[in-house]
Amino acid sequence: MDELLEQILRECAPYTKEGALANYIPELAKADPNDFGIFIMSSDGRTNRTGDCHKPFTIQSIVKPILLLQALMDNGIEEVRRHVGVEATGKPFDAINYSDQSLLSDHLNPMVNMGAICMCTLIKGDTYQEKFERLLQLTRRLAGNDSICLNETVYRSEKATGSKNRALAYLLKTYGMIRDDVEEVLDCYFRACSIQVCCADLARIGFVLANHGRLPISGERVFPSEYASYVNAILMTCGMYDGSGEFAVKVGVPAKSGVGGGIMAVVPTRMGIGIYSPALDGKGNSVAGIKALETLSQRLYLSIF
Ligand code: GLN
Repeated sequence: MDELLEQILRECAPYTKEGALANYIPELAKADPNDFGIFIMSSDGRTNRTGDCHKPFTIQSIVKPILLLQALMDNGIEEVRRHVGVEATGKPFDAINYSDQSLLSDHLNPMVNMGAICMCTLIKGDTYQEKFERLLQLTRRLAGNDSICLNETVYRSEKATGSKNRALAYLLKTYGMIRDDVEEVLDCYFRACSIQVCCADLARIGFVLANHGRLPISGERVFPSEYASYVNAILMTCGMYDGSGEFAVKVGVPAKSGVGGGIMAVVPTRMGIGIYSPALDGKGNSVAGIKALETLSQRLYLSIF
């Protein structure tokens, strides 16, 4: 398997030249576009890795499934459904889901920014600092890595430049979909996106989703199996934003991308995969990362279809 991963890394490395670094968050433009790593955690407890798989990067949108899990663990499916829907948007991650002069909770998808900002309000905690701390703890637990922490520089960079997310959050406030102070909610969202991880962390988090909510090795349950099915279904239809259909055809497993260059893939019952390559396509998905997953899926018959 290690050999296969090395081969895929070699074959797909040229694709790192086809994408561009995210620059709308200035700090992300400082990444090295040549970095490329893959980490796999399999159900037999084995791990395989290649390339820059321990290089740190910010989780960005890959925090959205963790936000959804925390919201589900704190409120249950029924309550979460009252605030965010499950239909794919087919639109970019920062799109304004605005139709017929109204905004309904069913229009909010938890894998795009508006839904994610709304989900920050669903986490239990007296303050937004406490809500964020609980999300960070869950991330650490799922990844089995207590040293995961916030990248302050990226957080400040996004907070200073995040006008679009501010606009989205104020729109949510206008329609009564968030009640709390907008800046506090946004602060939690910006922090959530700036949690620093590596491929190994993403593979382990993906593994827990593949393993019906149980941690690797110990088998300890973190969340009910039905939450894993719920999150994986949404990842399948919207985890790669408006590239989700293409990804379903080519790769065929639930996955989530982030503009930091990471992708977390979930191969139900079999494995969790973490990939890092920060050069992105126009939809904000890692170009070489998708190519590597496509090749991996063909060679290991990963597609669930
Ligand atoms: N922090 C980013 C944003 O809100 C996350 C987007 C992404 O990773 N696609 O713009």
